[in-house]
Amino acid sequence: MNIVIIGSGIAGVTLAEEVRKTCPSATVTVLTHETHGYYSRPLLSHGFSRADIEEKIVLRSFDALVDSGIAVIAGAEAVAIERTLRQVRYQLDGTESAQAYDRLVLAVGSDPLVPGPFRPHRPLFRVLNSLDDLLALRRLRTTVLDDARTPNWAIIGGGLIGCELSSDLAKAGDRVTLFHALPRLMERQLEDEDSVRLAAVLQASGVELRLHTAVQGFVVDRGRARVLGATGPDPADYDGIIVACGFSPRTNLARDAGLRVNRGICVGSDLATEDPAIYALGDVAEFDDGRIYAYVMPIRSQALWLAKHLAELGDGHWTPPTFHPKAKVHGFTSIHPYRW
Ligand SMILES: Cc1cc2nc3c(=O)[nH]c(=O)nc-3n(C[C@H](O)[C@H](O)[C@H](O)COP(=O)(O)OP(=O)(O)OC[C@H]3O[C@@H](n4cnc5c(N)ncnc54)[C@H](O)[C@@H]3O)c2cc1C
Repeated sequence: MNIVIIGSGIAGVTLAEEVRKTCPSATVTVLTHETHGYYSRPLLSHGFSRADIEEKIVLRSFDALVDSGIAVIAGAEAVAIERTLRQVRYQLDGTESAQAYDRLVLAVGSDPLVPGPFRPHRPLFRVLNSLDDLLALRRLRTTVLDDARTPNWAIIGGGLIGCELSSDLAKAGDRVTLFHALPRLMERQLEDEDSVRLAAVLQASGVELRLHTAVQGFVVDRGRARVLGATGPDPADYDGIIVACGFSPRTNLARDAGLRVNRGICVGSDLATEDPAIYALGDVAEFDDGRIYAYVMPIRSQALWLAKHLAELGDGHWTPPTFHPKAKVHGFTSIHPYRW
């Protein structure tokens, strides 16, 4: 069997490695846009306080995957799925090629969610979603430090990633202002009491909190990108504005191929799309109840289950494991379990 996996995040790489064990006779190809190897996305939000991050974040080089018998097409972008021909078209170095499959697995993950009013201002803000994003932010930070200044950041969004990022930048010694539209932080995951404690921990680390502050967009004012609030531009001079407002599953490939998508790619409990030769898992897979399991623990469980299923070893349904997400905010532990 010829299995092609698009994506080299935890979903794609865990699946590829597991298929090598459960189905040794299968050919496994990982086709990915990435060039850095398989890295830990959770570690991105600790990418400022840790000096060793660039050595530690890559968990597996692509060469190591190739050595274990997985074919890797790196730096390639899948652009179309041709379902009747059972092939994926992709672009690599300006050339378009096709990769045939018997089973195709979409492990394409998610983009950062950028609210509509922010989109026209794209050059004025950054995001933290990939290792390339982290490296670019670290370069910007180094430029400011080389200028003998303390980097000054605006973080937009007080959800899990915005809080982790604010905490880590503050730990690295930077100035941070965290804007959040709602009256309390991480309101989707935390009970009121824990949100209050989280706010206190962040403030104690030097983060300035602007709760109840709905950012309207961004403007260039006196040569600087500024945060636009309800009453006009914030006068602070930020070296960088980072939008952290959630995630948006990458559904385009599936939609263009005529597969059913909603917020994510629609899959059944066997992780199959409506085309039985095409599966989806990870941040991009949406189940019948509307759930998307965008955390590493359930994604790993999906990948292990799917490897067995492809080898015709498992039962017919993936069952979500019990898991408890946690924010990696320095010095913060919640009293109550997280909701998700
Ligand atoms: C800053 C940050 C911190 C996080 N912290 C935690 C945490 O502490 N705990 C936790 O459980 N979760 C955390 N998460 C969430 C977790 O990282 C994700 O749920 C998980 O990484 C998703 O894995 P994935 O393999 O589905 O997708 P991804 O990791 O997004 O991988 C998708 C892959 O698909 C490739 N790709 C996409 N489109 C194409 C295409 N057209 N052609 C070729 N390749 C393509 C991409 O290049 C990438 O390799 C965090 C996320 C972020 C961004």
